[in-house]
Amino acid sequence: MVIKAYGKINISLDAVDKREDGYHLLKMIMQQIELYDEIDITKADEGITITCNKYFIPTDNKNLAYKAAELFMKTYNINEGVKIHIEKNIPVAAGLAGGSTDAAAVLKGMRNIFKVKASDEELMKLGETLGADIPYCFVGGTALCEGIGEIITPLRPFDNKILVLVKPNFGVSTKTVYKNLDISKIRKHVKTDRLLEAIEKDDLKSVCYHMKNVLENVTIIKHKSIKNIKKNMVEMGAINSMMSGSGPTVFGFFDDILKAQRCYEYFKKDYQEVFITRTIKK
Ligand code: ATP
Repeated sequence: MVIKAYGKINISLDAVDKREDGYHLLKMIMQQIELYDEIDITKADEGITITCNKYFIPTDNKNLAYKAAELFMKTYNINEGVKIHIEKNIPVAAGLAGGSTDAAAVLKGMRNIFKVKASDEELMKLGETLGADIPYCFVGGTALCEGIGEIITPLRPFDNKILVLVKPNFGVSTKTVYKNLDISKIRKHVKTDRLLEAIEKDDLKSVCYHMKNVLENVTIIKHKSIKNIKKNMVEMGAINSMMSGSGPTVFGFFDDILKAQRCYEYFKKDYQEVFITRTIKK
């Protein structure tokens, strides 16, 4: 079976505290986008085989999809094997949850092909042990994610909004960005309540006004180009622009497809990974 594994952007990302184990406690509004990997899952006699159209993605147990398959087989005593092909379209190490969404899709797909009676909650708990964004990717749509990302409150769909995404020609490590985040130095936290109101009213302008990501400053110190991309995107007609997750992908919201197309053409001259896409509902 083939499953579409959708990427996400952060409409907001705030860090409100730090746990003793070093994990930050977060408050994020996540939004699924129309950009997806295709995950083709079939039964095999034994073992786990991963293939991928992108040569630089690991296909061994370093791949989150592999880890998800392994955990699923162990948990539900599956004695057969599985073959997984990942057709990757989502930029990698980009702040778009590419690996997490693949893992969530593998859990769903394996439940289906091996006819395992596991609830969504059970699979989300399994996913959480592999990565904090996996439970959200499992649910999708528009959601408030708290804790380390695993406490999920679904929100009214904020779908069908036009986006341009620019992934600079480098990746960043989520772990390193969080390591470099000092929450005592955050001068302005996110006005999450304002954003929740704006989403409830489906008010794109207000969402654009209040959207904020406290990781931006951490990543921008190392990669100044992100700041320029943000600025250029607004000059090209975005209502507002922001870095997604730990970066480096920058997205901009548009209220006009022609402006979005012009912005796309502008960035396409300098960057390989530029997309026009939309927010979706689950
Ligand atoms: P997040 O937004 O959750 O931080 P990300 O978009 O920043 O995720 P990923 O694309 O998930 O980051 O990739 C991060 C690292 O994980 C890469 O170095 C990549 O090699 C590795 N990786 C393992 N499995 C996968 C996968 N299925 N897809 C993409 N990357 C994977």
